[in-house]
Amino acid sequence: MRKTLVAGNWKMNGRAAASRELVEQVLAGLAEVDRDLVDVLVCPPSVYLAQVCQQVEGQAVANAPLVVGGQNLCEFADGAYTGEVSAEMLVDIGCKAVIIGHSERRALFGDDDARIAAKLKAALQAGLMPLLCVGETLAERDSGAALDVVGHQLRSALAGIEAADMAQVVVAYEPVWAIGTGRTATPEQAQEVHAYLRSVLADMFATVSDQVRIVYGGSVNAANASELFAQADIDGGLVGGASLKANEFLTICQ
Ligand code: PEP
Repeated sequence: MRKTLVAGNWKMNGRAAASRELVEQVLAGLAEVDRDLVDVLVCPPSVYLAQVCQQVEGQAVANAPLVVGGQNLCEFADGAYTGEVSAEMLVDIGCKAVIIGHSERRALFGDDDARIAAKLKAALQAGLMPLLCVGETLAERDSGAALDVVGHQLRSALAGIEAADMAQVVVAYEPVWAIGTGRTATPEQAQEVHAYLRSVLADMFATVSDQVRIVYGGSVNAANASELFAQADIDGGLVGGASLKANEFLTICQ
């Protein structure tokens, strides 16, 4: 059975004190969450990652740690890459996961298919759990191309990955038109895409496709999470805005 994953993407929000307070509140509230059923991950801005990693260190809640991940990484290892952060640096400070290919990075920072594939490989090589984001724009959905778009994104990012490494990979379906807009995909719309993504995984990695978690992202909140997560192929959520409010995030986890 696939264990539900709830991941918070804080994006470029907060300051040191606010990050500390949010993590304190989440750690306190996780005592009420059945951690046998759900893994919980937070992805703070890179400058606060070390602080958050230190804060959660040794704070296992009901035998399951609050996992910390980056929002991005550089596909290269050490060297002359001004402003970048490598996979090994994330591991070095205690991160266990990283978001790759978020639509904001694809649209605003030039993360194309080739770079996303390289970043995913770098994450796996360093032992990080990559959350690979795929998703169509509104124009692509309206023209009937949603499945083709996400299928292409998935295939190109995972080309050359060994089936044995897929247990570590999480796929996040994030329709661009639902991110930060308050307009959530209906459970049926999301399930249709998740089932399709799983069929692509089955085509690429027959033996492990049932084990790969596919989470949904796009205006997930405390009111809509349970209906979305109840769908057969939706294994949790990647949560943006609602992950900045501890109560809302904890309700989603519950
Ligand atoms: C996201 O940024 O990954 C996201 C899903 O944002 P929001 O929940 O705010 O739509």
